[in-house]
Amino acid sequence: MKLENKICVITGGAAGIGKKISQCFLQEGATVYIFDVNQSQGESAATELSFVYGKEKVFYKNVNVTDESQVEKTLDEIAAKHQSIDVLVNNAGITRDNLIMRMSLEDWKKVIDINLTGSFICSKSVIRHMIKKRSGKIINISSIVGIRGNAGQCNYSASKAGLIGLTKSLAREVASRNVMVNAIAPGYIETEMTGKLDEKIKEKLLISIPAGKLGSPEDVAMTALFLASKDSDYMTGAVLSLDGGMGI
Ligand code: NAD
Repeated sequence: MKLENKICVITGGAAGIGKKISQCFLQEGATVYIFDVNQSQGESAATELSFVYGKEKVFYKNVNVTDESQVEKTLDEIAAKHQSIDVLVNNAGITRDNLIMRMSLEDWKKVIDINLTGSFICSKSVIRHMIKKRSGKIINISSIVGIRGNAGQCNYSASKAGLIGLTKSLAREVASRNVMVNAIAPGYIETEMTGKLDEKIKEKLLISIPAGKLGSPEDVAMTALFLASKDSDYMTGAVLSLDGGMGI
C-alpha cells in the first residue's frame, strides 16, 4: 500500500473531489482527517468511509480553512496524537461566478479568501510539523482556469493562479527540508460544482476537450495519490495538468 501509516489532512473532503481523494488515500492505508464546513455532509462521509476502512482511520473535523486559529489548533492536536502530519491536500474551494461588471467585491473577496488564503493558512500551519520531521507533501488543487483564465471567473481564476504561485514559492522555500509542494490543475471534472452548469454550456465545453469527456473525481484522486506517495519523491513545484488535453 502506498500510504501505509501516513497521516493525511484533506480540506473540503466532505464532498466531490475531496471525498474521492479521502477514499483513495484510505484504500492505500492512510489515516485521513477531513476538514470541512459542511458538518452533516462531512460527518456522513466519514461514517460511510469508516464502515469500509475502520473507525480509527477516518475523522471529520469541522474546520473552516479561513480560520487561522482553528486550523492551527486542529493541526497541532493531530500532530500531537500521531507525531506527524505527512500529507496536506488543499482542496477546499468555491465558485462565485459573474462577469466583472456584475461581480461584487464581496464575491471577489470570498473566493480569494477560501481558495487562496485558506490554502496559505493550512500550509503555514502544517509546515513546521513537516519541517521538524524533514518530510512532507503538500498538494494544492488548482485549476486549468488558473493557467488559461475564463470569462466570468475573474475571482476564481485569480485564486487558482495565485495557488500556483504559492505552490512554486513554497516549493522553493522547503525543498531542502524534504517537504515537496505540488499542484494539480484539473480541467472540468464531474462533480456538484460542474453539475450546476447549463446543458448548452456543457455541450460547448465537450467540443473543446480533445478527450471528448469530463474528468472524474477518481482521475484527480489518482494524481493526488501519485503526489502523496513515494513515487513522486523528487518532484516539487510542479503543476500537473489533468484536463483531457483541454490545455494543449
Ligand atoms: P465541491 O463543492 O463538491 O466540494 C468542495 C468542498 O469544500 C465542500 O465540501 C465544501 O463544503 C468545502 N468547503 C467550502 N468552503 C470551505 C471552507 N471555508 N473550509 C473548509 N471547507 C470548505 O467542489 P469540487 O468540485 O469537489 O472541487 C474541489 C476542488 O477542486 C476545489 O478547489 C475546486 O476549485 C477544484 N476544481 C474543481 C473542478 C471541477 O470541475 N469540479 C475543476 C478544477 C478544480
